[in-house]
Amino acid sequence: MDLTIKIENLSKKYGNQFALKNISLELKSGEIVGLLGPNGAGKSTLMKILPGYLKPSSGSIFVNDLSLSENVFSIQQQMGYLPEHNPLYTEMFVREYLQFNAAIHQIDKTEVENVIEKVGLKPEVHKKIHQLSKGYRQRVGLAAAILHNPSILILDEPTTGLDPNQIEEIRQLIKDLGRDRIVLFSSHILQEVEAVCDRVIILHKGKMLQDLRLNQIRSTEQQLLEVEFDLRVEEQFLKTLPNLIKVENVFDATWELTFQTNEDMRPVLVDFAQLNGLRALKIISKNKSLADLFKELTAN
Ligand code: ADP
Repeated sequence: MDLTIKIENLSKKYGNQFALKNISLELKSGEIVGLLGPNGAGKSTLMKILPGYLKPSSGSIFVNDLSLSENVFSIQQQMGYLPEHNPLYTEMFVREYLQFNAAIHQIDKTEVENVIEKVGLKPEVHKKIHQLSKGYRQRVGLAAAILHNPSILILDEPTTGLDPNQIEEIRQLIKDLGRDRIVLFSSHILQEVEAVCDRVIILHKGKMLQDLRLNQIRSTEQQLLEVEFDLRVEEQFLKTLPNLIKVENVFDATWELTFQTNEDMRPVLVDFAQLNGLRALKIISKNKSLADLFKELTAN
């Protein structure tokens, strides 16, 4: 079922300190959204509020126009939540733990076997949870979170502490799960979010600083190039360059040119200069990557 979560002016205070300040955003099925922010940004707080484990100080959340505060139990049935410190009953066997969870949700035991298969737990299913590596424990947590086939998945730092192979496997699993669900997952690592998400929300000191669609950034990327020619030229002349959307004179024969294209415009500029009896003495790319943006936004 297609769902929309609307978060409106959400704030959370612990004592006098704001952990979240006026957060508003909308999440839709089929979208993997990364909540990115340094430690203490408020990610876990938001992720506890969404499944109704923590009450906000103000603001509201609607799932398909149903208010979360008035429908916590029915909405929880549509949500799977993997907490940051995945609290597992470590003395239980993997299958036993999942069957226990299935019983809570009144789910048929055969579904446990399907989920064991889906998250790749089969080789370890005979073990007790405390005997598992961190990667496999995380899979047990994920399995428990998806047992009741929720339409919304909330995953708090799901890859923390995993080795690179395990990270890759969990990422793939999250991508598969995200095809027809709302997936919100948090990380303090930019590359993590870039690798998995369609959209990234940057949180810092409880405030939402950015809401970016990664495919848009990638496909409609603007290139900002600073070019110095050996001779002064007219602006009108530069405007004949393909894909140019903005031109600004920095000084003398140095220009800042903005292009809207996926094509690398540096060789095009070199050819353009040569064709017109000029030389490009210097071409500098001044593009901001998501990494630059994240660093800048969370610097203080
Ligand atoms: P993140 O998940 O991004 O690391 P958190 O949501 O855990 O951030 O924390 C946001 C802020 O709220 C931090 O300053 C943290 O110290 C504070 N905080 C979190 N939980 C509590 C709590 N139970 N009591 C008091 N302060 C808290």
